[in-house]
Amino acid sequence: MKNYDFIVIGGGIIGLATARQLQTQFQGATVTVLEKEKELAIHQTRHNSGVIHAGVYYAPGSLKARFCREGNLRTKAFCKGHNIPFRETGKLLVATDKQDAMRMQDLIERCRINKIETEVLDQQQLRDFEPNVEGVAATWVPSSGIVDFEQVAKKLAEQVVSAGGRIHTNCQVSAIKETTQVEVKTSQGYFYGRFLVSCAGLHSDRIIQMLGHQSTFKILPFRGEYFRLPADKSQIVTHPIYPIPNPELPFLGIHLTPMIDGSLTVGPNATLALAREGYSRWTVNLRDLAEMMSYSGLYKLVMKYPRPTLIELKNSLYRPGYLKLVNRYCPQVTLDDLRPYPAGVRAQAVKPDGTTLDDFLFVESERTLIVGNAPSPAATSAMPIAQHICEKVEALINY
Ligand SMILES: Cc1cc2nc3c(=O)[nH]c(=O)nc-3n(C[C@H](O)[C@H](O)[C@H](O)COP(=O)(O)OP(=O)(O)OC[C@H]3O[C@@H](n4cnc5c(N)ncnc54)[C@H](O)[C@@H]3O)c2cc1C
Repeated sequence: MKNYDFIVIGGGIIGLATARQLQTQFQGATVTVLEKEKELAIHQTRHNSGVIHAGVYYAPGSLKARFCREGNLRTKAFCKGHNIPFRETGKLLVATDKQDAMRMQDLIERCRINKIETEVLDQQQLRDFEPNVEGVAATWVPSSGIVDFEQVAKKLAEQVVSAGGRIHTNCQVSAIKETTQVEVKTSQGYFYGRFLVSCAGLHSDRIIQMLGHQSTFKILPFRGEYFRLPADKSQIVTHPIYPIPNPELPFLGIHLTPMIDGSLTVGPNATLALAREGYSRWTVNLRDLAEMMSYSGLYKLVMKYPRPTLIELKNSLYRPGYLKLVNRYCPQVTLDDLRPYPAGVRAQAVKPDGTTLDDFLFVESERTLIVGNAPSPAATSAMPIAQHICEKVEALINY
């Protein structure tokens, strides 16, 4: 029998940051992390763009706006303090036509309200800044950076263990019972805790179901396909280059991103995956697929965005379509430059009416707190999210 003060489900960056924060905030408390994989941080925490976001896109007053700005500073400070390689690259948002330029103005206004420093570049200044990038104007955001979030997560795991915490890998949670304590059934037997926090990423809705709560959304998995450019093209840009996103869509658009290992990637697009952890296009998980296909929210989402859905699908299957999106702002990239690179799968929470949940979302009961929705920029925001969780836990425990 394994008894702990706090049980944390999920060994991704949020679970590990939370475990560490619980140890700091509740001195002397026993903490364990339960992770179903044999290695930590191999899902969203490993498969992402590695951008320390500044907070450009997020609605003023939202948790995303608050936590991203703070997380940007805290991630950089953590990396500095623990010799984790990162770079303060800044990033460019490039407007390629009149409509983009108008949307860019809205983003600049958002940045002003969110207190994010920006500088507007005209066509010539953009050319001087990034000679291989074309656009009618651009916005320079100096505080963005790049890092390998898996390394950040693994450092947090090291800290959890050296502070006396236990991390159980190969430990899949399959049932939870909340009584005067929390009983957690796993592939390694039962665990008991005074309080449970779940940070299960692509499976957050399933944990909510295990607790018997009525879930107001379902997680739909969206693959983000990337390519790596060949080594002789890895310097064609020196900053992350982002298009101006369509504000009606939940994803940011295909961008060029210098990675911390010196390579240059392009991506990610967004197409529905046939499995929650379906990193290759044809990976199918029958349970995931059946749940998705029987969910009204999926059809309503597709009906809401029929054109973007078809375009994304076409560009995923037809590489010249994908290339065209990059060539809008970087004509130097050719079809031959699109070399294989692992895809990521985003956990996108979707309501039954097809609306995507935008902000971070938490679901709580007397002895549990579940991270329901933690999409990008949750890797950047992991430390403030962890602090927020601990504040909520403290309030629940003292209630
Ligand atoms: C393509 C892509 C690009 C992105 N780009 C960025 C970016 O540039 N910057 C940024 O800030 N964010 C980015 N994000 C978002 C960011 O990666 C995620 O929001 C963040 O990693 C979420 O962390 P997590 O710990 O919640 O999830 P995860 O890393 O997915 O961890 C959840 C863990 O829970 C475990 N788990 C689930 N169910 C169970 C169970 N029943 N029992 C035991 N363990 C369980 C899983 O195995 C997993 O290890 C991106 C995401 C994707 C997919």
